[in-house]
Amino acid sequence: MIPELDTSRFEPVRCMNCGYLLDATTGEGHPSPGDVSICIECLNIALFTHDMALRAPTAAELREIMAEPEVRRYLMAIRQMKQK
Ligand SMILES: [Zn+2]
Repeated sequence: MIPELDTSRFEPVRCMNCGYLLDATTGEGHPSPGDVSICIECLNIALFTHDMALRAPTAAELREIMAEPEVRRYLMAIRQMKQK
């Protein structure tokens, strides 16, 4: 049995870019408002709002997000996963 330590389920939200149904995050525990969401389908980056919907980051926020080593690591991991 594989422990599900790293995956947390939440109310499904649709990716605002491709419409993919996102219903889990990996690596950061349960998402909270202001957390970054990366679509595993199209790599679109979004932010959780206070009511756990998604919104597009502003240009300044996006710069900040892309400066996060962890975000880059996730993007790279997703890209590699999709190449298989
Ligand atoms: Zn998407």
